[in-house]
Amino acid sequence: MKYRYLYLISILILVNACSNDTNTDDSILVETKENEEPVEIPNNPSNTNLEQYIQRFVDEAAARNIEIEFGSINFTFTDNLDFACGTGNSTNRLVRISTRPECWVERTDIEREILMFHEIGHARLGRLHDNTKLPNGDFKTLMFDGNQFRLYTENTPEKRAYYIDELLDPNTPKPSWASAKLNPTIIFNDSINGKDTNWDYSGFGDSNHSSEISSTHFSSPGSSLKISATAHSDFSFWGFTFSPEEIAQGSRLTMEVDIRLDNVTGEGVFIAMRGDSEDGMVFFETTQLTKTIAGTFPFTKYTLELPYYIEKAKILNLFLIMGGNSTGTAYFDDIVITKYD
Ligand SMILES: [Zn+2]
Repeated sequence: MKYRYLYLISILILVNACSNDTNTDDSILVETKENEEPVEIPNNPSNTNLEQYIQRFVDEAAARNIEIEFGSINFTFTDNLDFACGTGNSTNRLVRISTRPECWVERTDIEREILMFHEIGHARLGRLHDNTKLPNGDFKTLMFDGNQFRLYTENTPEKRAYYIDELLDPNTPKPSWASAKLNPTIIFNDSINGKDTNWDYSGFGDSNHSSEISSTHFSSPGSSLKISATAHSDFSFWGFTFSPEEIAQGSRLTMEVDIRLDNVTGEGVFIAMRGDSEDGMVFFETTQLTKTIAGTFPFTKYTLELPYYIEKAKILNLFLIMGGNSTGTAYFDDIVITKYD
């Protein structure tokens, strides 16, 4: 099963925060993979690529008894958007989509749909940005100002249905899946109290990282999982894989870990959760982009939030990671996964 770890870290970096939001200018943030060279588009995508999404929008509206004429939406690709992936202008009902690869060529069908529907929301429906949240923490509308690309996926059809409903009718009632998730159930609890742990340590390439089940330092008796790094190298991690009892779609999950660090430099350590189905990865959540865990401190509780569980994931992988450009020593203890319904 180790091969699975090869796609452990899908590092996404938000490279552009933009938008001074004057009514219709758009602001979709751009994600690029770290260290990735810009990809050249062999031939600029043609406007026919956009047509199918205009038609899809017309069809979605028709299915909701709202008549939108195909010809009432103008659209074009442009090389002239530096920050946004698209704009929607309600004055001339024009949608413009950037030819930059991270805005279109490298996007999935659903991501392209989200971008197009958001811009059509500006251009044809006159919608403005709205960052209101639903009770569970999700955005109320596809028209939020930020990175919309992952608002819904093929694994969350209930979200897609709602967000298109809401796009066409902002008075759409709150969906049932958006209720606040407050009822906790602990589904995993490991206090690492012996040498017979079921956690596996994995490193790559060189040997600048090492691991140990430490009985010297612990948050609860009598052990913890230790990683030491003496020099920069590839990242390494402790991993644990299990099949949880059924977890409902939309449940909130938290992963709590007590972490002690001694002189940890660089990007530090991070904790992560990955859900897999038979077809591969369904979700991946990490503290890597949201909080830096580095330095020296006694055992301290850190929490990773997974706001919306995808029930297609039948296997849960937990990771305690020392970053590749880090040095120092980390101890991990008392790993608890809590489900909130
Ligand atoms: Zn916008």
